[in-house]
Amino acid sequence: MTAGKEKVVVIGGGVAGLTAGTYALLAGFDVEIYEKNAIPGGECVGWNRKGFHIDNCIHWLTGTKKGTELYEVWKKVGALSDDTEYAPIDAFFSSTYNGQSATLWNDLKRTEKELIEISPEDEEEIRKFIEYTEYSKQCLIPAAKPMEMWGIKDYMKMGASMKDFPKVMKEFGKISITEYSKRFKSPLLRKMISDYLPGDYAAYSFFVSYATMADGNGGVPMGASLQMSLRMEKRFKELGGTICYNKGVNKIVIDKKKATGVELEDGSFVSADHVISTVDTHVLFNRMISSKYMPKELKKAYDEPKNYPAISGFQVAYAVDKDFKAEGETTFIEIEPFKVGSRTFNRMYVKTYGYDPVSVNGDRQVIQTCISQFDDDYEVWKSLDKDEYKKVKDALVAEVTRRVEEAFPALKGNMEYLDAWTPLTYERYCNAYHGSYMSFITTPVVKQLRLKGQLKGIDNLYLAGQWTSAPGGLPVAATSGKFAVQRLLKNQHRDINI
Ligand SMILES: Cc1cc2nc3c(=O)[nH]c(=O)nc-3n(C[C@H](O)[C@H](O)[C@H](O)COP(=O)(O)OP(=O)(O)OC[C@H]3O[C@@H](n4cnc5c(N)ncnc54)[C@H](O)[C@@H]3O)c2cc1C
Repeated sequence: MTAGKEKVVVIGGGVAGLTAGTYALLAGFDVEIYEKNAIPGGECVGWNRKGFHIDNCIHWLTGTKKGTELYEVWKKVGALSDDTEYAPIDAFFSSTYNGQSATLWNDLKRTEKELIEISPEDEEEIRKFIEYTEYSKQCLIPAAKPMEMWGIKDYMKMGASMKDFPKVMKEFGKISITEYSKRFKSPLLRKMISDYLPGDYAAYSFFVSYATMADGNGGVPMGASLQMSLRMEKRFKELGGTICYNKGVNKIVIDKKKATGVELEDGSFVSADHVISTVDTHVLFNRMISSKYMPKELKKAYDEPKNYPAISGFQVAYAVDKDFKAEGETTFIEIEPFKVGSRTFNRMYVKTYGYDPVSVNGDRQVIQTCISQFDDDYEVWKSLDKDEYKKVKDALVAEVTRRVEEAFPALKGNMEYLDAWTPLTYERYCNAYHGSYMSFITTPVVKQLRLKGQLKGIDNLYLAGQWTSAPGGLPVAATSGKFAVQRLLKNQHRDINI
């Protein structure tokens, strides 16, 4: 620690923790990050199996468009630079059904034309879909400062830049994706609309997600997710930050209205002038500090899982021929129904990673499948003992393998199993609530959860991480880390422009 400097302790070395740490250094603090795992990144990670790299995060990174506020954040924390190379992916995803396929290209005109060819009777709805996706390009994530620090000029600026987006919210903010899909007559298009995001999501999320890709603001940096986290770690260290791995935090020590530091799992105490927690809020309020500090709106979310679902996945990775191509990089397929967790599924996606040399070894590439899992599914996994868990997982892998081979006969006998993981993997690795790798799903029936980032009763504890604002994801993780530091600076009556 540098003499005279105040010390910020950050809990968690994921994207939120690394971002908070870097901004705190830029603001002139001494910073120590405590991370329970051996490497940085949290959910933004990948790992190696049998000579292959399994990339397990970025399907799209919002904020890759130069000139956006979020791009500046990614640059500042070392995640991106003006020289970053992006994967040559030209579509959001493809869906197949009954021998037909449809693709949501980044080129909206092309999508419009092809979808109308597939289903002329849906022409009006398809044109509207494209028009509203175009409007949704205006929905950019504000990343300059937390909204409570906005002035009238900020609101006016946002109003002017998002002038058509209220139309999207008005029409699609209050219906779910499942309901929206029923507006289409074509069974393939219905499937396509509800394939990517969970059916409970408010429909506008789908427009915003697709618009992000179509606007060139959702690129996939080459080199995969872990490498992005490592670039952020490098930046943090270069600025003089300290990151301590395999150092889980047990609790935050509070004296009267002040966090005096953290107690690590090995029992040692680390003092702090300020603490930024980026861990899952479930862990924070149930293990690290008393649940009496939990904001009411967050308690409501935990108490009402039907209105605030959490999403995870049952995922399997294989190595296959490098030349294998599905319809697109991400392709949803119809499958013989089977039960995973508590529910029966008849769709899943296959994602190919041959576009990135990091997931290619010789003439083989990694492919992955994913089946979404929710709170009830998590409970089923959780109820299994160790042997049962392994047995169920192995049996499901065999079921998935058979279904992929049925959909793509060229892969028969040519799929080398690499790894499979479940909601319990996310719980073990990141302490993720119900194994969820995003925050609460934004459903049309409730107000989007957004926490204030500070708690009544503890003056120098700041909250960051994807759970502070639904639906989570990398942009929320990063901006929340920056905002935590800006709140600290504001409390000290200092300039928040860092
Ligand atoms: C399969 C998958 C696909 C995804 N795709 C995308 C995508 O395409 N785009 C997108 O925007 N987002 C995506 N996400 C979500 C994204 O990865 C997360 O939103 C983001 O990484 C969350 O960052 P975070 O820092 O808030 O939380 P975390 O990554 O969970 O970081 C919290 C950190 O705290 C650590 N920790 C927990 N408990 C303790 C403790 N007691 N002591 C010390 N440290 C502790 C954890 O180990 C972890 O490193 C995806 C996630 C997954 C898994």
